[in-house]
Amino acid sequence: MYYDKLIFEISKEGRKGFSLPKSEFTSHKLENELLRKSDALLPEVSELDVVRHYTNVSFKNFGVEKGFYPLGSCTMKYNPKVNEDIASMSEFNMHPYQPLESVQGTLEIYYETQKILSELSGLHTYSLNPYAGAHGELVGLMIMKKYHMDRNDLLRTKVIVPDSAHGTNPASAVVAGFESIEVVSNSDGTVNIDSLKELLSDEIAGIMLTNPNTIGMFEKDILEIAKLVHDAGGLLYYDGANLNPILGLARPGDMGFDIMHINLHKTFSTPHGGGGPGSGPVGVVEHLVKYLPSPVVKKVDDKFIIEDTNDSTIGQVSHFYGNMGVVIKAYTYLLTVGKENMGNIGRFSVLNANYIKESLKDDYLLPIKGICKHEFVFDGLIDKSEHVTTLDVAKRLLDYDVHPPTVYFPLVFKESLMIEPTETESKDTIDEFIKVMKIIAEEARNTPDLVKGAPYNTVVKRLDEATAARKPLVKYRDLLE
Ligand SMILES: *Cc1c(COP(=O)(O)O)cnc(C)c1O
Repeated sequence: MYYDKLIFEISKEGRKGFSLPKSEFTSHKLENELLRKSDALLPEVSELDVVRHYTNVSFKNFGVEKGFYPLGSCTMKYNPKVNEDIASMSEFNMHPYQPLESVQGTLEIYYETQKILSELSGLHTYSLNPYAGAHGELVGLMIMKKYHMDRNDLLRTKVIVPDSAHGTNPASAVVAGFESIEVVSNSDGTVNIDSLKELLSDEIAGIMLTNPNTIGMFEKDILEIAKLVHDAGGLLYYDGANLNPILGLARPGDMGFDIMHINLHKTFSTPHGGGGPGSGPVGVVEHLVKYLPSPVVKKVDDKFIIEDTNDSTIGQVSHFYGNMGVVIKAYTYLLTVGKENMGNIGRFSVLNANYIKESLKDDYLLPIKGICKHEFVFDGLIDKSEHVTTLDVAKRLLDYDVHPPTVYFPLVFKESLMIEPTETESKDTIDEFIKVMKIIAEEARNTPDLVKGAPYNTVVKRLDEATAARKPLVKYRDLLE
């Protein structure tokens, strides 16, 4: 159809999408040098063409509301619409410099969210100021640094990060001014205790972990790890971007962690992808509370106040108090689920992941056996004789209207295919995914070129991904050149 074309391609000279009443005002001529030399390059289309253009563009996009989206390490769960409705209520439309008496309700939400996150994670106090997961990591590491500096423990310049960690972990450590050093993993992806012992010294500021780890396995030696790191004078940082698997069931604070961040835009159902807005609250144990970013929201005698803290804080890390809208969405979600049901998020996300893993392990190579948590990793197809890669499988999934899992991450396997179904998917959806994955495995055996040539049903076919990412053609003018 013609509406598969770009809006510029259906442009007809002189066609208008608007009509304005005749102006009652006198017009003034602009100075010549202010006038443009040629007309602006704008499409000339009818109002209906514009509506169809945007509607069709939206159909070309893929989101969790269009289909299954099992992107590992991203927690692409359903984001209930009520969250949006509440966050966009006019009552929350306010100015950050409004008098405190006029924003008590909003501050109460802020305060309550801090409390709930503390209760869920076992850490003493939260700051909701950081804007994202990686931002939370940086804030957490700045707290770690300030703690050691305040103790005049200035040799501690190294942070231990496992080889399976999310890429933001070593990056944040470096941005915070530390050296990131790698601890080796066991074959099941958990931390190798002997390797850890060798690394521990008075130069270690701390360790960054996530539990379950990036491969979805629970770090069963976590209490021993915590003791070793603490005895060596270091702190434990928990990457809580994906808190789903332990939600309502286990708490990083009880495992011995001192600092953590949580991604509200993953675990607590704010839509994500495409750059935000997000929120990465940071929680700490009691003796680190004084380092939290400024300002803080507190409750004093039934009144909510905002306090600028000066003494030990690492300083201000965001405009005002972070992304309030995301906090309201998370708070709405927390209350909708309710304390008594929180554990089901953990249980169902783990059940769904294990069901997929066990159903597909005859077709896809499962390097780490045993019960996983909310996600797991295949190392490509078992049958590699036709050289069908993880990338080929991912591209073929697009033809079946499934968003591909995370590919080639974590780096510890050559053909990583990392699947995270989340708790909001029904058994029917998951069964359909399993069926499609089995069909693709069969295609890879019988008609490998079909899989290698995929996708066929998408707007664009296989791109040179590096060029597409580095030099995207997103303007009509780019296409003309
Ligand atoms: C998503 C993610 C992050 C980073 O969060 P952003 O909000 O994208 O900065 C960090 N660690 C893990 C494990 C993640 O999955």
